[in-house]
Amino acid sequence: MRLSPAVILFSVAPSALLAAPTVQPVPQGLLPDTARPVAYRLDLTVLPDQPRFSGHTEIDVVLKAPTRSLYMHGRDLKVTTALARVGTAVTAATYTQVDPLGVVRLDFAKPLPAGKATLVFDYSAAFADGSAGLFHVKVGDQWYAWTQFESIDARGAYPGFDQPGYKTPFTVSVTTKPGFVTYSNGAEVRSEQRDGLVKHIFAETKPLPTYLVAFGAGPFATVSGSAAPTPERSAPLAVRVIGTQPNADKLDFALQNTGPIVGLLEKYFGRPFPFPKLDQIGTPILPGAMENAGADTYGDSILFLDKGASTSQKQEFGMVVSHELSHQWFGDLVTPKWWDDIWLNESFANWMGFRIGNEWRPDLKIGVNAIDEAFRAMTVDSLKAGRPIHQPIATSGDIDAAFDAVTYGKGGQVVAMIAAYMGDEKFRDGVRLHLNRHAYGNASTDDFFASLAEAAHDPRVLTALKSFVDQQGVPVVRFERTADGLKVSQKRYAMLGTDIAPQTWTIPLCFRVGDARHCDLLDKTSAVLPVADAGAIMPNAGGTGYYRFSLPEDEWRKLIGEAASLPPGEALAMTDSLWAAYRAGEVSPALLVEAAKAMAANPYSGASVDGGERLAALRSRGLIPANELPAYRALIDSLYAPKLAKLGFDPKAGAYTAEDPDQQKLRSDIVSLLSGEASDKNVRAKLAAAATAYLAGDKDALDQSLFGDGFGAYISGGETAVSALFEKAATSDDTLFRDAAIGALGGSGDEATGRWILAHITDTRLRPSDRLSMLRGMVSEPATRDMGYAWFLAHYDDFVKDNGIFVASTLPGYASAYCSVDKANEIEAALRPKVDQYKRGGLSLDRTVEQVHDCGVLTQARGAEVAALFAGK
Ligand SMILES: [Zn+2]
Repeated sequence: MRLSPAVILFSVAPSALLAAPTVQPVPQGLLPDTARPVAYRLDLTVLPDQPRFSGHTEIDVVLKAPTRSLYMHGRDLKVTTALARVGTAVTAATYTQVDPLGVVRLDFAKPLPAGKATLVFDYSAAFADGSAGLFHVKVGDQWYAWTQFESIDARGAYPGFDQPGYKTPFTVSVTTKPGFVTYSNGAEVRSEQRDGLVKHIFAETKPLPTYLVAFGAGPFATVSGSAAPTPERSAPLAVRVIGTQPNADKLDFALQNTGPIVGLLEKYFGRPFPFPKLDQIGTPILPGAMENAGADTYGDSILFLDKGASTSQKQEFGMVVSHELSHQWFGDLVTPKWWDDIWLNESFANWMGFRIGNEWRPDLKIGVNAIDEAFRAMTVDSLKAGRPIHQPIATSGDIDAAFDAVTYGKGGQVVAMIAAYMGDEKFRDGVRLHLNRHAYGNASTDDFFASLAEAAHDPRVLTALKSFVDQQGVPVVRFERTADGLKVSQKRYAMLGTDIAPQTWTIPLCFRVGDARHCDLLDKTSAVLPVADAGAIMPNAGGTGYYRFSLPEDEWRKLIGEAASLPPGEALAMTDSLWAAYRAGEVSPALLVEAAKAMAANPYSGASVDGGERLAALRSRGLIPANELPAYRALIDSLYAPKLAKLGFDPKAGAYTAEDPDQQKLRSDIVSLLSGEASDKNVRAKLAAAATAYLAGDKDALDQSLFGDGFGAYISGGETAVSALFEKAATSDDTLFRDAAIGALGGSGDEATGRWILAHITDTRLRPSDRLSMLRGMVSEPATRDMGYAWFLAHYDDFVKDNGIFVASTLPGYASAYCSVDKANEIEAALRPKVDQYKRGGLSLDRTVEQVHDCGVLTQARGAEVAALFAGK
């Protein structure tokens, strides 16, 4: 019998090897540095309509010492060949996956010498159905495949050393059906016939980490063009937009607007786009976007806009495209050494996304959305359970938890605050220095701090930055007038009934009293500033500081008196801090209603509806008793119906395209509050009629900005309407429509509709992401919360299996809308075993339990006041 030198594997390794003294314990985080990869050659066969794909991977490595065994990565790969080549000598290897998160041990038949070797693998694996690894989706009657590798899913598509500190060139080839379009990080250099298929060979890349590699195949539609040369780049940059066939006529917006965004980024970084070409690729199930080097992927509705696109869609396009493309420099050109430095990528890109998006289209007011996101992050960051922006990551199971609101929303605002304090040019010089020093390599947080310090010439900048990056929590700064001036004091923000250890920050404090603006660095617990200006105090000028504020009640009233004329960022800061003061037990709910009334008159859309949306959160958490709901609805109606009457409301597509974009957004946001929260009969009737016409085929009957509310009004027509919308959603390949319809069904807030959905949620035409979205809607509404949560508990394992393990990090958050101390305990008992089982989602569960508990405590203490607000109205 003749055995292949390469042994077949995926079995348990001989116990003798496990016991061998040279074998190290299975690494849970970083791999030991036995082998360092220096180049990859990936040769994949991707036939998207098949259940499995196959690959041939060669990895050139340098071995530090003579080696009998080494650890690397690979997850659920069926390996049929594993061997090592050293010069002309071939050594068989045994490939064994030793950990469910994808750690592999490679045991060689005889020791390999120190120095260069090539590891060779043949394997196959199942396509994923959720957006993790190499996944496939059927769109229309055709199948397509894409990849999503961050953070540790590259190992599900090819064996390798799957950690960001290893950057090497990759040479990728993809073999697929004739006529299919393929893409990867490099440009395609040639193709050749292979057994009735076509092999597409891509240019060798610049050094990349495994998680930034990308490829895909399918009968895609494409448009091609280029970004014109800029002062930083002498040649045009080839740009291509790639989407599934139903998006064929929606690709032009991305093609036209990618070049200008690349140009703005090049101007900021002072360097050309770091890779030789750029593909912008849409996929129907990616919940966001990914900055693969030269091959960025996006959820379809982020990238593909038609002429009816709403202000919100354009805002999202500008922010997300700017975010992903800024990563081409910050993340791809210079990459973190390990996942504990991922905040460098994400906090910076978050800041750049809003900033460059705003430069791209100032009329869309994209910049202020960064402030809104920061205040959302504060809600998470004010919990006792949490993490600082920069935090050690010991095990692979902890990585995904670092991609949270703290990294994005808080990190982005902290970068903005430090950039503002340093001065925009000095900060930019520090960034440029960092990129020049580490181009095409790796860098850590300390490297970035060193570059910034060199540009800043002020050591206090680093002290301030570190106090926010290394400490969890939100500072709250109290402002009081005294005879000597303004007394400012800081402490860590805490919700009512929570004990939190004292903490101080070095806070770049910028505030306004009347028209006079002042900036100071608060590095002590308290200080008295010689400020005696008259007028209301706005303690967070421009809203750009990452801190909350607290005021005596008469000062609150003065500030609320100016709500209608506050600039956007300050308006958002006022509402956030006032609601935070309520949750801390400092101000009465009556003041919240007073502020919502005053703020409704603010011309900026986000400020005008902020109060209403926060009152809506009281309702959706069940804090407003059923008998007071009519009074609550009447209040929302009185706040916003007169504004809508003034703005006018015609639901037809494009009825207001000539208007200012923010005014268009104000109208659709108000329609949403009136139809949803106020149950305004007139608004709902108009929406339902327009949605009925739209669903009957009149595509101009309903504007895209009203899809969610329109379909919500439509399904209040009962089971026939529910079933008709469900049928259309389940069979639609228009991602924008499908997501809006699924969202409306899930968020109906109606018990009978909820029961109908649970009876149909296993329909195989629904995608795993559709089920998640429906459940999210159900648990967010009181009438469907219990049944949705019960179903969620019973199917937790299916959610993880169908969507990929990444989702396990966030699933416990689905219970966070509950509001009771008892329920908090129940959730803990029900979900802790799941967290332990998947080694994921611990932080999400801690935060959820605390939120539910705190809400219960607040309700016990102040719930009667909330109810009394509406009583007798
Ligand atoms: Zn990012």
